[in-house]
Amino acid sequence: MQVSMADLPLHDQPNDHDDFADADRGFVARLTPGVVTAADGRVVWDSDAYAFLEEECPGTAHPGLWRQGRLCARQGLYEVTGGVYQVRGLDLSNMTLVEGDTGVVVVDPLLSVECAEAALGLYRRHRGDRPVTGVIYTHAHVDHFGGVRGVTGGGVPILAPAGFMEHAVTEHVYAGPAITRRAVYMYGQALDRSPYGQIGAGLGMATSTGTVSLLPPTLCVGRTGQEEVVDGVRIVFQLTPGAEAPAETNFLLPDHRALCLAENATHNQHTLLPLRGSAVRDARAWARHLTETISLFGERADVAFASHHWPTWGADALTRFLTQQRDLYAYLHDQTVRLMNKGLTGPEIAETLRLPPPLERAWHARGFHGSLSHDVKAVYQRYLGWFDGNPAHLWEHPPRESAIRYVECLGGGAAVVVLAKGYIGDGDLRFAAQLLNHAVFADEGNKEARDLLADVYTRLGYGAENGTWRNFYLTGARELTDGIAPAVTASAGPDLAQALGVDQIFDSIAIRVHGPRAWNERLSIDWHLTDLGERHRTTLSNGAFVHQADPPDEPVDLTLRLTKAQLVGLLAGRGVEGVEREGSIGALQRLVAVLDDPRPDFPIVTP
Ligand SMILES: [Zn+2]
Repeated sequence: MQVSMADLPLHDQPNDHDDFADADRGFVARLTPGVVTAADGRVVWDSDAYAFLEEECPGTAHPGLWRQGRLCARQGLYEVTGGVYQVRGLDLSNMTLVEGDTGVVVVDPLLSVECAEAALGLYRRHRGDRPVTGVIYTHAHVDHFGGVRGVTGGGVPILAPAGFMEHAVTEHVYAGPAITRRAVYMYGQALDRSPYGQIGAGLGMATSTGTVSLLPPTLCVGRTGQEEVVDGVRIVFQLTPGAEAPAETNFLLPDHRALCLAENATHNQHTLLPLRGSAVRDARAWARHLTETISLFGERADVAFASHHWPTWGADALTRFLTQQRDLYAYLHDQTVRLMNKGLTGPEIAETLRLPPPLERAWHARGFHGSLSHDVKAVYQRYLGWFDGNPAHLWEHPPRESAIRYVECLGGGAAVVVLAKGYIGDGDLRFAAQLLNHAVFADEGNKEARDLLADVYTRLGYGAENGTWRNFYLTGARELTDGIAPAVTASAGPDLAQALGVDQIFDSIAIRVHGPRAWNERLSIDWHLTDLGERHRTTLSNGAFVHQADPPDEPVDLTLRLTKAQLVGLLAGRGVEGVEREGSIGALQRLVAVLDDPRPDFPIVTP
């Protein structure tokens, strides 16, 4: 599994040097020490922990990922062009600062408040104590808005693409707990930072673990070509919905000849389906948006920067970069669909498809975060879903039941370990992992199988070019050996619950109803939101909790008059104190009695 630099087709590419030169260009100063702490002293970000990446790549890492880690671990304040700065390496994402007439406009205030404060402080130490006069969220992912209260308390224009608020909170409402657990794997949050552990996620080093905030936008960017002026800074927007995020925008700063690519073109092949889980993204839309970017802005910019990685300077380099990124997503889409229409399934296409050599040689198209393998499967999923059409796969036993039967057929757990060792000896770690996974799922007390599987995962992790694959493998190995340790993740401040729409609040209750326990319940509650002047009705029947706005006049079991804040408080278990009510409070108690809690530490590598 070991890969040396010489195996990569990239060794002597001119852009090898260019990436390091670009990542260092415009350097002003580092944050020293490179550590950000919360008010209670807890470390929420530590860029110094990655100093080891300056050493030679050891045998425990893929040289391409090591190189990417070395580039992403660079930290500090950088000048992009006159009046435009970036703080990089103080979170997964970048903060961009555009100087205006009286202050500075912040683009994408990182993931947590503490890191955003530190980034703005670093900027101000070198550029003066400029007030923040505006904020732009390029898109609705938390690493691009969560730190906003670290740069402003509000009262300034906050610009965001149409649909921002809905999408900013959607992941937290619905699949939040499952995604949070899987993100521990994806970002390697529980792993040591070391040549044997976490060396980044391709897109950046890691996610910070501070406090997440959210201030709602005050100005909606609703169309491509929309032009706004904030603190004297002219901005021309290009909406890119459905590419990297459902609500996202690129923009040009025409007076600076600088182009912001949000997260639509970065220095890696991006992911069409993050391994932590997400709605699948649309590679076709992604490519079309980048075509439009080139035609709208290609000749009006001398530099392009994004909210991850380092900028690209010069008309030729910029055009080549954007064109190759565009072709990358177009190729992934079109070739997957072509092969799908010949009858190949996702895993078969992933094994067959190769990128054209010029894209394979381009560092920025390599699979450090997304990968050809899982992006191809994402395209397949978008069109055809989980089922490959083969009836043998229509009604398979679930993993543990299958595993028990496989192990039985193979002669028992000890025999499976022997067989697995044979495949390991032949270098087929992929199949060894499949075999040993069956042994562990059939009997999680099979220590020999567990240890050997941990070893196989470790070796697969060390060989992985993709940062998120490495993190999945190494986290799996760790949990097989040490069990599930609670991982520290960013924590949502009160803004996020307040930002929920009333319908999203009721949706978040609906997905917690324990269906079978609620089969025989029937109840209806009217909710009069006094501060919003809204009336809502919720009904529980057949285990389904459904919600209707502006309901007809009909008798219900209970009517509650309360503010949205009280509703959020009720959800957080703060009781009905101060809530005016009419009818039977028993209806609410019966509802609460059928609510189920998510499990934040569910097992993944064991049954
Ligand atoms: Zn991001």
